[in-house]
Amino acid sequence: MSADLTELYQQVILDHNRRPRNRGKLPTANRVAHGDNPSCGDQCSVYLRLEGDRIADLSFDGSGCAISQASASLMTTRLKGKTAAEAEALFQQFHDIVTTGQAPEEISDLGAFAGVHAFPARIKCATLGWHAALNALKGDPVPATTETHND
Ligand code: ZN
Repeated sequence: MSADLTELYQQVILDHNRRPRNRGKLPTANRVAHGDNPSCGDQCSVYLRLEGDRIADLSFDGSGCAISQASASLMTTRLKGKTAAEAEALFQQFHDIVTTGQAPEEISDLGAFAGVHAFPARIKCATLGWHAALNALKGDPVPATTETHND
């Protein structure tokens, strides 16, 4: 990776850390999950409004290191409007980036986290918000709805 690209990627992380996107509780959320990374002290809650199979809106709230908070912020911007399957695929792409350090050819803001692979303990920081989001997608609706189940 060129020095210029490294600089750009650092800017992405710094920017999301200074000005987190979609931060705070989402009043209309119907899915919530909490993630905890005790090895670093990071916390992250993800609030999703799932409409059918699509993430209509989402937000995060939490505290912790710059990597964990910037990653959660970026995650919310990338998952909005995605289906659950698309969200899973995007997480797989992000997971590959942070574990191998290989960012896709095209400049992707997700590639900002490629440098994390050199610090294995920080991979959990970078993936915390994503895990919370995927858990929220798989979780039961909250609060309990009047949906009927075929059981
Ligand atoms: Zn952390």
